[in-house]
Amino acid sequence: MTKDTGWNLDNSYARLPEKFFSTINTNPVRSPKLVVLNEILAESLGLDIEALQNEENIAVFVGNKLPEGASSLAQAYAGHQFGYFNMLGDGRALMIGEQITPQGERFDIQLKGSGRTPYSRGGDGRAALGPMLREYIISEAMHALGIPTTRSLAVVTTGESIIRETNLPGAIMTRVASSHLRVGTFEFAAKWGTPEELKELADYAIERHYPEIGMDEKRYLNLLKKVIERQAYLISKWQLAGFIHGVMNTDNMTISGETIDYGPCAFMDIYNPVTVFSSIDREGRYAYANQPRIAGWNLARFAETLLPLLHEDQEKAVEMAQEVLYGFSELYHANYFRGMRSKLGLFNEEKEDTALIEELLNLMQKHEADFTNTFSKLTFGTKDCAKLFGSEEFASWQEKWQERRARQPESKLESDELMRNSNPGVIPRNHRVEEALESAQSGDYSVMEKLVGVLTNPYAHTPDQEEYTKLPPDTEGPYRTFCGT
Ligand code: AMP
Ligand code: MG
Repeated sequence: MTKDTGWNLDNSYARLPEKFFSTINTNPVRSPKLVVLNEILAESLGLDIEALQNEENIAVFVGNKLPEGASSLAQAYAGHQFGYFNMLGDGRALMIGEQITPQGERFDIQLKGSGRTPYSRGGDGRAALGPMLREYIISEAMHALGIPTTRSLAVVTTGESIIRETNLPGAIMTRVASSHLRVGTFEFAAKWGTPEELKELADYAIERHYPEIGMDEKRYLNLLKKVIERQAYLISKWQLAGFIHGVMNTDNMTISGETIDYGPCAFMDIYNPVTVFSSIDREGRYAYANQPRIAGWNLARFAETLLPLLHEDQEKAVEMAQEVLYGFSELYHANYFRGMRSKLGLFNEEKEDTALIEELLNLMQKHEADFTNTFSKLTFGTKDCAKLFGSEEFASWQEKWQERRARQPESKLESDELMRNSNPGVIPRNHRVEEALESAQSGDYSVMEKLVGVLTNPYAHTPDQEEYTKLPPDTEGPYRTFCGT
């Protein structure tokens, strides 16, 4: 079986001290049925897409069978959830190992929704089909948008019902990640590990994600710096796409800088900085405009875990960490404004650009303009009678912007091209995702396949994408998402 499918698994994580994971028994499911397979991703991992679809190989995607060389473990981690520290861990996930691709890259292969583990607390360890398909759609859309993210290889229904408010079809999603190391993994090590174990984890993270970091006395400070850099980049990409994660707890923040754990996330339609989708985020802790600040807060928790490795004198260690943490905001803003300038077709930088960008956002908010479509319309010079485009203040902003665009060495054509490549035409709009999930849950996957196909080319701007750019018909209240449990 192994040769046919191309599984080529290593288990470097399992060579960490035992405290970092639990070896678990798999929880076989009744009748696995493959409902989605990401063929392009499978091929890039060195897997044979035909062989993967054999019954005995589908069994791998639910943990009914393990490929040769596989592990079977759940990772331990902790985390600050809505500001409060908790012991967590993979409560419903099984790590079968790290696939080494033909190009020599290493990716974690994790089965999400695979049953109870020692970290399940009161949970059943299972997942429903809807949330697993939702993670599949949105993570693949994020990837196509150029936003670092974990990916989705397959979704397999289990043939079992799971109990939520109602009975729902169970499913397991195979998640692919450059690793599942989280800020919470370090919080776990700092609280319950020995200094030596913490160091082992840090060395492991460096080896997997930042092998360029040297063995000098700045080694762990450089780890902190790199994670800050990657997160400053990631969060800027979220903001530039109008993406709201929804549960930015420290256990949902990776050391690799990939987006992870698509629970109640959603893309904003109408631009409003206080937008929140998650039904459990009543205070708006994880609202759109708060995401950069929360990332900074999470990174401070990460820095705290590294203090013993930074300097033997704790005061000195705090000073060192703080200096690097202060850099986050500047890095984030630099990335964000660079991205915003690209969205407006600007190659170079002028001091007044920030004000120009902020003025646009203020007008968008005031006139309740759609975030994605406003930039699309600017890109294509679409005449539009929407509130924003009909207003005089926006006309005068556009005049200023066009003058600014003309004040750069690059041609109008080059500027237009930059805008086409920086402003997606399609994003996974909530009503479209819901529609796809509803059809899928009644057995028709064609709506979802078509949606995923469109979302895979967000910068194509082709006529067939037009219908996916439309806003939802007026609904009775704000869109609400629920935790994908
Ligand atoms: P999440 O909100 O998905 O990031 O999950 C937070 C924590 O709850 C993690 O430790 C998960 O493993 C755990 N968890 C989420 N759903 C379940 C479930 N159905 N059964 C057991 N644990 C779960
Ligand atoms: Mg999580």
